[in-house]
Amino acid sequence: MKKSKIVILGGGYGGLITSRTLEKLLKQDEAEVTLINKHDYHYIATQLHKTGAGTATDERNTLNIPSLLSKGKIDFKRGTVTDLNINQQVVMLESGETVDYDYLLITLGFDVDTFGIPGIEEFAFKIRSFRSTKAIQNHIIKQFSSYQEDKDPSRLTFAVAGGGFTGVEMIGELFEAMPNLCRVYNIPVEKTRIINIEASNTLLPGFAEEAIAFASKYIKKNRVEVLTSSKILEYTGDIIKLDNGKEIEAKTLVWSGGVRGNKILETLGVPIQKGRVRVDRELKVHGFTNIFCLGDASLFLKEDNTPLPPTAQVAIQQAQLCGKNLVSVIRGEKLHAFEYHHKGTVASIGNRAAVGKVGDIKVTGSFAALLKQVIEARYLLVLGGPRLLLKQLFKSKKTQPKVSLSNLK
Ligand SMILES: Cc1cc2nc3c(=O)[nH]c(=O)nc-3n(C[C@H](O)[C@H](O)[C@H](O)COP(=O)(O)OP(=O)(O)OC[C@H]3O[C@@H](n4cnc5c(N)ncnc54)[C@H](O)[C@@H]3O)c2cc1C
Repeated sequence: MKKSKIVILGGGYGGLITSRTLEKLLKQDEAEVTLINKHDYHYIATQLHKTGAGTATDERNTLNIPSLLSKGKIDFKRGTVTDLNINQQVVMLESGETVDYDYLLITLGFDVDTFGIPGIEEFAFKIRSFRSTKAIQNHIIKQFSSYQEDKDPSRLTFAVAGGGFTGVEMIGELFEAMPNLCRVYNIPVEKTRIINIEASNTLLPGFAEEAIAFASKYIKKNRVEVLTSSKILEYTGDIIKLDNGKEIEAKTLVWSGGVRGNKILETLGVPIQKGRVRVDRELKVHGFTNIFCLGDASLFLKEDNTPLPPTAQVAIQQAQLCGKNLVSVIRGEKLHAFEYHHKGTVASIGNRAAVGKVGDIKVTGSFAALLKQVIEARYLLVLGGPRLLLKQLFKSKKTQPKVSLSNLK
């Protein structure tokens, strides 16, 4: 009998956990499964702010995909998806190669939403992928180095747009990175400025009052200037223009104002809503029986008609179910409906503090920071078991985040 061909687009949280689930559930030779990803590494997206600030090593935040797929049931193909022909059931890659499928899973993740604000697309840094955040790290180092020559204060002014979850996590890493950079370049820390710009009237909208109060106090104590109720109208690459008439001279603006589904989704010919692919209870794309979608690329409406948020937590849970559903669909069995179980949300503010809620318990400070590390460790455990967890923990211990003059050249 002809084997079914399953093709998975994207090797992020959704694509990898689905692949791992398929490895466990599929019998040998039951299906041909191909995972396609832009790069041969998987990046831990929830830790990208650390890559941006240079407070975690690259080897800590990236994992080689082929070595995670060890059971010989999944083929990995490195490639960038550019198009999809739904009628012929073919995926097109940038290289010109085509891959045909019987069943398709789209899990291509998120893109940054710049809301059309002039200059953001061109000049602001985005926390979108490993490469885009690595560019932030390199840029910061360059600013320190150039400051030694021209003493331009705007080089040492680091602005983060957005005081939500990601913005606050980015700010926390930035203020922890400053002392080390200042030491290396022999610049007083007082010369650096970190500014957080948030359009609404509070940091961390949606978080509990205690969390907001703790985060605001902690961030300000670490010399961060917080500008709430401030909308960015334009960024020129040198000047941030705000709606209250204020102008800030800054050669660094990190944009974390919002996310949407991957822009490539719009070209794939599947129904799109609010930048994401609308899926049914079984995670099938509306109107299709052989195309699934999950994670940030998907729009899953809860009973109350509100969408599930674009989080790793959602992507992981959906992937675990989607793996089962892909097996059911090729075996002609009944599919399962997705049910989301929210386990909590914890935002880090650097390495030593965090705020959030785990279950019904509100947490702040160093205990919350510890819980955040447990949450991150749990992902590695789900992905690769205790071996992967230990391997990654050992890596992070071995190479403490540091900047030395030699590795800056
Ligand atoms: C700084 C930061 C902190 C976060 N913290 C948390 C947190 O604490 N908790 C939480 O639950 N969530 C958090 N999130 C959100 C979480 O990271 C995302 O929800 C999660 O990554 C979504 O998983 P995904 O599989 O849908 O997409 P992704 O993880 O984005 O994976 C998409 C994959 O598709 C690949 N890809 C994209 N386009 C193409 C293409 N054209 N061709 C081939 N491959 C392609 C990408 O390279 C990537 O490997 C955070 C996000 C950020 C940025």
